Amino acid sequence: MESKKIQFVDLIRQYQNLQPEIDAAILRAVGRGDFILGEDTREFEKEFATFIGVPFCVGVGDGTDALHLALLALGIGRGDEVIVPTNTFIASVLAISQTGATPVLVDCDPSYYTMDVKKVESALSPRTKALMPVHLYGHPADMDPLLEIAKDRGLFVVEDAAQAHGATYKGRLCGTMGNAGCFSFYPGKNLGAYGDGGAVVTSDAKLAEKVNLLRNYGQKVKYVHTMKGLNSRLDTVQAAILRVKLRHLGTWNDHRRHAAARYADVLAGSGLKLPAVADYANPIWHLFVVQSDNRARLQAALDAGNIAHGIHYPIPVHLQEAYRDLGYALGSFPVAETIAERLLSLPMFPEITEEELLRVAAAINAVT
Ligand SMILES: *Cc1c(COP(=O)(O)O)cnc(C)c1O
Repeated sequence: MESKKIQFVDLIRQYQNLQPEIDAAILRAVGRGDFILGEDTREFEKEFATFIGVPFCVGVGDGTDALHLALLALGIGRGDEVIVPTNTFIASVLAISQTGATPVLVDCDPSYYTMDVKKVESALSPRTKALMPVHLYGHPADMDPLLEIAKDRGLFVVEDAAQAHGATYKGRLCGTMGNAGCFSFYPGKNLGAYGDGGAVVTSDAKLAEKVNLLRNYGQKVKYVHTMKGLNSRLDTVQAAILRVKLRHLGTWNDHRRHAAARYADVLAGSGLKLPAVADYANPIWHLFVVQSDNRARLQAALDAGNIAHGIHYPIPVHLQEAYRDLGYALGSFPVAETIAERLLSLPMFPEITEEELLRVAAAINAVT
């Protein structure tokens, strides 16, 4: 008999656990009829700001827009450069392009896969306006050296925290260390809506106000427009769902930590390179990413075991056709290029069971 599929992220299982709470929240929001910038959006903004420990949170359409709006609000645009890692989800880089600024890519650290801070200095130019570290896979980027460069050079720091809701760096929450922290509530993220959603968090009241205007056609008073804004708001119904889920996020992140620790135990003899955790980091394991010398064989074994898997990411940004105009050649970023051939992401979600973890391990250990 074929064994039951192990999902990469099991959102149905999560919904079933929360169904009465979620259903009630959706019906309440729908019954109120305040679909755009309604009560649940305002309350979620307050609650997420409290969770992250900053005074301001502005709910926006998605994580890409959170980054785009934060950059716009900082005045970044045509002629400016923003430094970002090439090993990231492409949205980090698209958000920079959307402002008219030029993304300047850097390689990643071979142990933690986040922006290699030693490579940033040589990527600086007189046009550099901002640094965009990405807290990739739920593991924080090494922020202190970046914050120091930013301070010395008068640069902004916009944190891409789309994979890091609740991760900490030396005890500081991801999203609170730069000028702005940008989050995604895409369904598969650690805190996910049932559609698109995002947020910008900041301690800067002026910046928050500017994002607040820019997400809503540049208007503070209806039909009075002080800036050329966008339409990018966090839906009220999505916010109602996120308010329920936010109450569980801490527990869910702990369950992911437990699952990561179990994977580390049961895969210890597998010969795979398991994810390393920096001494400054308390990650939230958005993804559990291993490296393999023989990825195709591993993928086939997981497929045969009816186990989902992924690659994050198969093509570094500098080798994407969409970014050919940046002019980076093959060989520009050797670490990112090497790991792109070797990385594999295993199923990781808070509800994953011991039995499922053991099944994943057995499938892997049989071929390594
Ligand atoms: C998901 C993600 C984004 C974009 O978020 P969306 O809500 O999908 O627009 C940006 N950066 C990273 C690192 C992400 O993982």
